[in-house]
Amino acid sequence: MAAVGIDLGTTFSCCAIFRDNRVEVIPNSDGGRTTPSWVSFVQSGDCERLVGVTAKHQAASNPKNTVNDAKRLIGRLWSDQGLQEDMSRLTYDVEEGEEEKPQIVLTVRGEKKRFAPEQISAMVLENLKKSAETFLGCAVEQAVITVPAHFNDAQRQATKDAGAIAGLKVLRIINEPTAGALAYGLDKKEGSDGGRKVIIFDLGGGTFDVSILAMEDGLFEVKATGGNTRLGGEDFDRNVATFLVKHFKKENPGSTVSERATRRLLAAVEKAKCTLSVTTSAEIEVDSFTDGKDFHTTLSRAKFESLNADEFSSCMDVVKAVLKDANMPKESIDDVVLVGGSTRIPKIRQMLSEFFGGKELCSSINPDEAVAVGAAIQAHILGLLLLLLLLVTPLSLGIETEGRVMSTVVKRNTPIPASKQSVFTTTEDWQTEIDVCVFEGERASTDGNHLLGKFVISGVERAKAGVPQILVTFDIDANGILKVTAMDKVTNAKANIVISNRGRNSDEDIQKMVEEAKLMQEEDERFRRKQELILGAGDEGLPYQDASEEELRKKIEELSIKIK
Ligand code: AMP
Repeated sequence: MAAVGIDLGTTFSCCAIFRDNRVEVIPNSDGGRTTPSWVSFVQSGDCERLVGVTAKHQAASNPKNTVNDAKRLIGRLWSDQGLQEDMSRLTYDVEEGEEEKPQIVLTVRGEKKRFAPEQISAMVLENLKKSAETFLGCAVEQAVITVPAHFNDAQRQATKDAGAIAGLKVLRIINEPTAGALAYGLDKKEGSDGGRKVIIFDLGGGTFDVSILAMEDGLFEVKATGGNTRLGGEDFDRNVATFLVKHFKKENPGSTVSERATRRLLAAVEKAKCTLSVTTSAEIEVDSFTDGKDFHTTLSRAKFESLNADEFSSCMDVVKAVLKDANMPKESIDDVVLVGGSTRIPKIRQMLSEFFGGKELCSSINPDEAVAVGAAIQAHILGLLLLLLLLVTPLSLGIETEGRVMSTVVKRNTPIPASKQSVFTTTEDWQTEIDVCVFEGERASTDGNHLLGKFVISGVERAKAGVPQILVTFDIDANGILKVTAMDKVTNAKANIVISNRGRNSDEDIQKMVEEAKLMQEEDERFRRKQELILGAGDEGLPYQDASEEELRKKIEELSIKIK
């Protein structure tokens, strides 16, 4: 069973896996290394729900039923600041649902249906999960998913829910900038003065985030964040397209540019923009742009930069503001990490490098894959930790002694293989047989614990109660197989039991049992004191075995232990 790392992005998502000592980005069914976070419901044809590139291609012809930007809605309330403005940019309908949650309204098989944003995100996750299963040839049921550092608890929880809806156990939700830093292994490097300080510059298609992280006690702490949730590569495309349309209209007076023509122009501009990241000029061509007329122009890198100069410099203003918030001079930054497709723009790189005194930028990993790469590394680390957990006893092991008391021999979290011994005795005079009942659990009474097995030791020394010495040994081998041996120190009589299947408690079951035991601590304490009183083993010394419940209650109350 594999655990993947997933960057669930606003415009694109990416999935990666750590295997054979390296991270591999998992291609989707179209061969793409990133998948558009788009979902579309079509009203005709064989396949009614499309996800990824095919869904994005539907945007122009099926705008009301094609969803992108679900990440802008996830975990937010109708009354949240900025939500209405975000919604005004969407092509599909969003309504207020129960508890102020936004609901996406789509037509499915001719009927109006409402979807929670996490359901739409789940469809994207499911698509990534399926691609990963095809690529890896095994089930993918666990994932680490990333979210922006500024996401609140509700947005994080909703993202986790999206994972669960997609059939993924979300091992952890981690911050996108942290994943970016992990991708470059910066967690393993020393800082110039103390903990390493890293700035993550994340400029994607529609969002811009800057975060400063500092390494403290082996973990990255987010020191400050800033950005603009409505700035990215799409804005750069729009600026260029707006300029070109204006120019076109000037040269072709009276012509109108339809919405569809604008969308085709935007697609051509985006392509040219990407070309301009490696060349200094690019052609933009749109056939039958308006009234059967083709559109053709050449865009220079310099023109692209001047059309977006305001946006580029606003990015640098955010960097300055975040440094100020973190109260750190730019000289203290050890690494500048580039994340997001738009950081391929040479002007952005140049501005950043110059600002940080000519520093070399961390850009060797594809900027649109770096977050998923970091998430995959985190998933791998968590997998190793789980493995380590298997190498300890998850619950305490012991035997039942008089009064249904759990007498622990091996404490929980003891590394295995392990061997522990305790000496027990008889409770009745001339007793030559003892029932040994083996339990696991954290409760003081065996009633609350789990019986693993029992056996009888015969031939115990015939003596007064409390005289025989029975040595009980718990041996746990590397495979977790438990052997419990009881031996009378005088007669050498011996008996044992081997328990190979201690029931496969899931992590959650174990956590639940430990939590429950913590909650019951007070009750367990009362149980212990009561047994001590009955058996005369406590501070009081005197046995109370013949006392009535009422007398016991009184005595315990006297000892200021409330008993219910
Ligand atoms: P992301 O959301 O991180 O995948 O980034 C997507 C954005 O990056 C889109 O606006 C793309 O147009 C933009 N982008 C991708 N490659 C390049 C490139 N080579 N040069 C400039 N922008 C790019």
